[in-house]
Amino acid sequence: MEQFTALKIDNWQDRAGNVIAKIPGKSSERAMAITAHKDEIGMLVKSIDSNGCLHVRRLGGSKCSLEELEICGVRPGTKVVIGNHRIQPFRLNDYIASYTLDNKASVAILLELAAKIIAPPVDIYLVASAKEEVGAIGALYFTQNQKLDALIALEICPLADEYPIESGEAPVLLSQDNYGVYDEFLNAEIRQAAKKADIPLQLAVIDGFGSDASIAMKFGHVSRGACLSFPTQNTHGYEIAHLGAIANCIEVLATYCMTVH
Ligand SMILES: [Zn+2]
Repeated sequence: MEQFTALKIDNWQDRAGNVIAKIPGKSSERAMAITAHKDEIGMLVKSIDSNGCLHVRRLGGSKCSLEELEICGVRPGTKVVIGNHRIQPFRLNDYIASYTLDNKASVAILLELAAKIIAPPVDIYLVASAKEEVGAIGALYFTQNQKLDALIALEICPLADEYPIESGEAPVLLSQDNYGVYDEFLNAEIRQAAKKADIPLQLAVIDGFGSDASIAMKFGHVSRGACLSFPTQNTHGYEIAHLGAIANCIEVLATYCMTVH
C-alpha cells in the first residue's frame, strides 16, 4: 500500500483483505482488473502431541515446548507458513529462486504496472487478492462488488512433462484450467498486445488448477477472464522462474492496459 501511495495512486484494503489500487482511465465507463494473489500455500496445525510436535497437513516438527507453543497462540487450526529466514528470494543467473514465488513475483509485477500505466483508456484496478489458495475468496468478493469488463489473473505456470511449456523468457497464456475455458477474445487481445510489444507467448491448458479469473468467471462475477503466467519449476516448493518471463509479463500487461478499448 505504501508503494502505491508513493506513486500517488489511490489504494485501499477491502473487507476481504484485498489490497486494491485504482488507476483512473480517460473514460470511466469501462473497467478491468489485474489480480495477483498475496497469500501463499501454507499448512494448518491438525494437532499438538505431548512432546510439543506439531502435526500439520504438509510438514511436521517443532522445537518448542507445549507451554511455549501455547504462549505463541499455536493450537489446532493455527495456520503455518515457512519462516521469513527461509523464503528470501535468491538469484541464480537469469533466474529467481524462492519459496512462495507464487505469488510474490506476481505482486511485484502489479507494483511495476502501477508505475508504468499512466492515463489508460479505461479504469484499471490492480488487486493484490486475498485467500486465493483457499478458493479465490478475495477475488470473488472483489468481483461481486466491482463491475468489470475483464479480469486478468497473474499466476505461476508449473513446468511439468505433461505441459508443452518451456522454461525461459516467454510468459504463458492459459487457454483452460479446471474451472473452465478462458475467454478467447480476451486472450486474442492479450496475444495482440504481446505481438505489439514483440514478446513471444506460450499457450497452455493446465489441470488441477484454478485462478482468480477462472473462478470468478465460473461464479458469474465477470464475463471475460484470462490468466497470464510465467513458467516455474517446483511449484509450491522451492520455486525457480526466469526473470525475463516476469519482466515480459509486465510489458505485455502494460501494453494491453494502454491499448485496451
Ligand atoms: Zn498462485
